Amino acid sequence: MARGFDTLSLPPAMLVNLQQLGYLSMTPIQAAALPPALGGRDLIAQAKTGSGKTVAFALPLLTRLDPQRLDVQALVLCPTRELADQVTQETRRLARFADNIKVLSLCGGTPMRPQRESLAHGAHIAVGTPGRIMDHLERGSLKLDALTTLVLDEADRMLDMGFHDDIAWIASHCPVRRQTLLFSATFPAGIAALAQRFQREPLQVKLAEQH
Ligand code: ADP
Ligand code: MG
Repeated sequence: MARGFDTLSLPPAMLVNLQQLGYLSMTPIQAAALPPALGGRDLIAQAKTGSGKTVAFALPLLTRLDPQRLDVQALVLCPTRELADQVTQETRRLARFADNIKVLSLCGGTPMRPQRESLAHGAHIAVGTPGRIMDHLERGSLKLDALTTLVLDEADRMLDMGFHDDIAWIASHCPVRRQTLLFSATFPAGIAALAQRFQREPLQVKLAEQH
């Protein structure tokens, strides 16, 4: 029997929202990743595309978020704009349990100015591609002093696309005391090196291919 989200200690309003979204039982990667991630552990989670990884990192960062504080408390790095937009939409749906949690998508290929204006109004969660996130950090339009959670989503693809040094630069601008969640569909050697560099005693959660 698949476990329900109600077996986790989530805020009641979050459970109601999950039900309204039609998310009743956890997918295998969610059942494996959520208990340690909600407990604050760093995680390397490996599972194929479509296995529900967004929920596995969004719920931990959302439960930790202080909605009263309009500062970026979580940053999700994604390899492409398309993926960042998907994560943004899904995180907004998952954030509906509370009022006014602001999630911004910050990607290249779109003008900087509207993004700078949105950031000036404040946001709780930033989702974006490494290049554009670096741009905002360099210009000072994005500050990460209040960050508690850093997510590297599709980390294998980000490495394939040559983002290693950008990720390193961005991580150096994040508080040392934070949770770092790494998600990947595959586990090439570069992922272990990335984990060693940016995570603290990460727990590895791996799901076998299901056919
Ligand atoms: P991945 O990042 O692993 O590729 P996603 O997070 O994009 O996967 O999720 C894939 C799809 O599964 C999405 O359409 C999402 O809405 C759906 N989904 C995620 N978790 C659940 C769940 N617990 N129950 C039902 N559907 C889910
Ligand atoms: Mg995904």
